[in-house]
Amino acid sequence: EATIEVTGLRKRFGRTLALDGMTFTVTPGRVTGFVGPNGAGKSTTMRVILGLDAADEGTAVVGGRRYAALPAPLTRLGALLDADALQPGRTGRGHLLWMAHSQGFGAGRVDQVIELVGLGAAARRKAGGYSLGMRQRLGIAAALLGDPPVLMLDEPFNGLDPEGIVWMRGLLRSLAAEGRAVLVSSHLMSELEDTAGHLVVAGAGRVIADAGVAELIAAA
Ligand code: ADP
Ligand code: ADP
Repeated sequence: EATIEVTGLRKRFGRTLALDGMTFTVTPGRVTGFVGPNGAGKSTTMRVILGLDAADEGTAVVGGRRYAALPAPLTRLGALLDADALQPGRTGRGHLLWMAHSQGFGAGRVDQVIELVGLGAAARRKAGGYSLGMRQRLGIAAALLGDPPVLMLDEPFNGLDPEGIVWMRGLLRSLAAEGRAVLVSSHLMSELEDTAGHLVVAGAGRVIADAGVAELIAAA
């Protein structure tokens, strides 16, 4: 089953204790919001899940296996494509075609994900002129190329205008409703409280609350 299980992660960067026992589970069929202030350890946790960072202690598994041992692109980290990843002279669609090609997916999938994230006509314009919101859409489109059952999005609301935020909430809900496990980080709980069925609240490298949204709001 496509779940993410994070158990007792500890991670130090020099003198900074980035993760201090981070533990939670992400289940399919709902959006799990991963909220907490900057520096709480959200990005590091996602990077450890993907095997991009090694934890000092603890385990992170997707569908019961470590990411490196997964047979297929079971999970993807989608997020704002940083400036280095984006060649300004290439169109959005050109980017996705290049990524699809390098991962062995067909061009048909590229047009599907362009549709899914609402890039529309902008997909044929050069990515160098994209707004932050368009880059978010492009990053999520890239993450969806392999139709992964587990999706992690790091701060996907960053750079979106109010209309884009409403659109993003709808997209997250529909991706989860199709049976995916969806983990979404944000430093603003307000961005996720209407969208996430479940919230994992992080602070100083550990989980300080883990509950349904209604439950958390009732307790506040
Ligand atoms: P969040 O995503 O919640 O903002 P991060 O996981 O990015 O938190 O960071 C957690 C802590 O670890 C912060 O204090 C951050 O500065 C530190 N940190 C993260 N990555 C590194 C790194 N590569 N080198 C040094 N410190 C890091
Ligand atoms: P986020 O806010 O999404 O956590 P950051 O800006 O904290 O993103 O981190 C962006 C990148 O910089 C990540 O790869 C992270 O590991 C790294 N990083 C974060 N904090 C530090 C730090 N104090 N020293 C070095 N690298 C860091």
